[in-house]
Amino acid sequence: MGPGLPTPDWRDLLEILLIAAVLYRVLRFLVGTRALQIVLGVLLLAGVYVAAFLLRLSTITYLLGVIFTYGAFAAIVVFQPELRSALARLGQARILRLFRDGPADGAGEAIAESLERLARTGTGAILAVEREVGLEEYVGTGTPMRAALSSDLVATVFSPYSPLHDGALLVRGTEIIGAACILPLSQQPLADRSLGTRHRAALGLSEETDALVFVVSEETSTVSLAVGGRLHRALGPDRIRQALAGRLPGDTTASHPVPQTR
Ligand code: ATP
Ligand code: MG
Repeated sequence: MGPGLPTPDWRDLLEILLIAAVLYRVLRFLVGTRALQIVLGVLLLAGVYVAAFLLRLSTITYLLGVIFTYGAFAAIVVFQPELRSALARLGQARILRLFRDGPADGAGEAIAESLERLARTGTGAILAVEREVGLEEYVGTGTPMRAALSSDLVATVFSPYSPLHDGALLVRGTEIIGAACILPLSQQPLADRSLGTRHRAALGLSEETDALVFVVSEETSTVSLAVGGRLHRALGPDRIRQALAGRLPGDTTASHPVPQTR
């Protein structure tokens, strides 16, 4: 061993691989979010910093140094929603999801039936199915309830003269836990103009949680599914059942071009 020349061993290799994998995931996560623009801006500032340092422009170097120090705290505040959903996703390791995917037995069929019924009658609706991440905080935005899930009840809630038809229905297991709930709106750019606030709300919840968020469009009478920040559009009865069984629709489904974030 030459002095000063470290010999790489398997640990170094392992670390390089792990760090590369994490960086890759972080970059995948950033693409398509507003965070990407901000990261590019920070890189530009870093470039200016290096240039100023090399040219010995000490005041600019000092000022940028200050900006970077406080900027780190600002970033935590600015990226709070992104950080939150990233941490929530971290807790949803695939292994864990093997054991609890989709709704409880019997609920799937009731949900699929409800969606078909709503689509047939052209009734606008959002039905969010809780998975690993709790939907508790959204229950409070609407009317909390504990009711056995049935397609009759879902149809009743969303019928246009029902006081609870505006907003989202939240399902946990075989129970409806909330109706007329307000969901966070997605800030994603949506290409299709026929996608309004209902679809944005569904996407928004799917960005913050791992819920399966079904949307029935009042305009097109179709069922779409938002999951993991992606919108799968115009699902037929088979795809709806597949999604409820934990097997998400495959590549034949038209999905929003924003890349998957997990
Ligand atoms: P559709 O295809 O059914 O017309 P859309 O995506 O075009 O849906 P809008 O026409 O804007 O959306 O639908 C408005 C309805 O979406 C509202 O009446 C309300 O029920 C629901 N909605 C809007 N914002 C939210 C929200 N933040 N959370 C839950 N539901 C919402
Ligand atoms: Mg509309």
